[in-house]
Amino acid sequence: MTSEPDAMVAVLASVTPLPGATVPLLESLGRFSAQDVFAQSPLPAFDNSAMDGYAVQGKSCRAGARLRVMGEQPAGADRGLTMGAGEAIRIFTGAPLPAGADAVVMQEDVTREETTIVLQGGVEPGEFIRRRGSDLAAGQKILARGEPMAAQTFGLLAAQGMAEIAVGAVPRVAIVATGDELARPGETPRPGQIFESNSIMLHALTRGAGAKVTMVEHAPDELERLTEILRRGLESDALLVSGGVSVGDRDLVKPALRALGAEIDLWRVALKPGKPFLFGRVGGCAVFGLPGNPVSAFVTFLKFVRPALRKMMGAAEQHFGLRSVTARLATELTNDGDRPHYLRGELREGVFRISGRQESHALFGLSRANALLRLAPGDKLAEGATVAVELWD
Ligand code: AMP
Ligand code: MG
Repeated sequence: MTSEPDAMVAVLASVTPLPGATVPLLESLGRFSAQDVFAQSPLPAFDNSAMDGYAVQGKSCRAGARLRVMGEQPAGADRGLTMGAGEAIRIFTGAPLPAGADAVVMQEDVTREETTIVLQGGVEPGEFIRRRGSDLAAGQKILARGEPMAAQTFGLLAAQGMAEIAVGAVPRVAIVATGDELARPGETPRPGQIFESNSIMLHALTRGAGAKVTMVEHAPDELERLTEILRRGLESDALLVSGGVSVGDRDLVKPALRALGAEIDLWRVALKPGKPFLFGRVGGCAVFGLPGNPVSAFVTFLKFVRPALRKMMGAAEQHFGLRSVTARLATELTNDGDRPHYLRGELREGVFRISGRQESHALFGLSRANALLRLAPGDKLAEGATVAVELWD
């Protein structure tokens, strides 16, 4: 049996970033930048007004001063206006500042009389002006290779005039759920059958990780049929197989993969839930054998598949894993076993509480959970203890 950290190292060592593409900015959402990006121009690109009002010279601006309005500078086209002391130019938010002006007075703070304005108060030089380069200097790094593409970055990149960006790949993932006992949701199960619930869960997790699902199949516990279906799954970048990786006579995933020429790098990891986890490769495809028990499949996806997919996507290492936050424990928790135990629970208002039964088939508890807590063997954590939990949303 492989330790959890060794298994992680083996999985990550075996996958490499896939070739990416240059795509329209919006299509990069959820992907990772394949390049460092540096600002081509400062932001703002020119001095401009932060308000609708009047461009003025601060020194001619005591309360009660009367200024002549010499012209108008709208946003959008620089009229190249010039002004001096005792003068004002009508200006609008975002409009370039006329030469000679060093402040803007808000229109609410003046009284307009035909071609003059009367100031209600004094004005400080620099007031309501957005200076060129005050937000961002030319040449400044604005995005690093491996960073996620997200809404908050798009604004900045578009403001630089960028319409496209080079990003990492979106891995293609095949999902095969194995088991004679499985009926598809929507079908009528025969006596003794259960509904197949792993593939849709893994599908959602795959999408959540930023990859795309290109095949979903159900395979019986029959070597020839299973091998045939797995063969098709190997045409993708990653193949997720659920069930059939344990030690039962009908656990045929390993023999089927061997028949397909798989190198099996690891099988069985010291982890609860998730012990039967298998990882190998066939050619360009990374193969993950996930336990059939739904909670085990869920946890091993998050712990091993997700980081591997993120690496394939060109993510920086800090984006491989789940987001970790600190929490207080609602109750005492212990791990008397000899494997690390990932408990599923709900993190709410800084408090982590395990949700429902913690057995590997127990779906209701999982459905209420939003966080994982890792208990190392021998851990005994008191109620109220501060712990780190991992979030998958
Ligand atoms: P296995 O790993 O194939 O021995 O399956 C372990 C347990 O998980 C058994 O109780 C299976 O019925 C159940 N199981 C396997 N695959 C699925 C699936 N796709 N959906 C729901 N339960 C499953
Ligand atoms: Mg099975």
